[in-house]
Amino acid sequence: MREEWNMKSGKRSGKKRPEVDREVFEEVEGIYAELEGRLAGLERDCRVVTRCCRFQLTGEVPVLTLGEALVAARGVRASGRRELKPHPEGACPLLGKEGRCTIYRDRPFGCRTHFCRAAGGVVPRKLVGDLIQRLEALDEKLGGDGSRGLPEAIAAVL
Ligand code: SF4
Repeated sequence: MREEWNMKSGKRSGKKRPEVDREVFEEVEGIYAELEGRLAGLERDCRVVTRCCRFQLTGEVPVLTLGEALVAARGVRASGRRELKPHPEGACPLLGKEGRCTIYRDRPFGCRTHFCRAAGGVVPRKLVGDLIQRLEALDEKLGGDGSRGLPEAIAAVL
């Protein structure tokens, strides 16, 4: 039986299969690695300014496919959390007290390609369109229903 996600309840349907998670993690990590390689060629880099994490300032919230949400949720669980608490200032719930991303290694695709000027601005779609398509294909394969805003997407699979 193929394991799927019920996006309304946030629960798995079907038998629990850890190997499915492993495959998802490997696929998403592979996409992130490919992206990092392309960004390195552009001499574009995240400076950990974290302005893009302050949703209350930017009015922009990254959207995640299901595979990205599963990887991000893994990072959340690794830090000992079982739920996302809203940030007191309206920033990303994963922005830590010291102003750093608490799941940096597992941060979503949008956090790697965002509009941050310090990091070099928006990555042109033509450079990453195929990677986005791979994330969307994985979302469909897993039974996801398309991209969702970061807090909702991660909370649904924690
Ligand atoms: S996941 Fe991390 S990098 Fe992305 S918006 Fe949240 S704190 Fe910032």
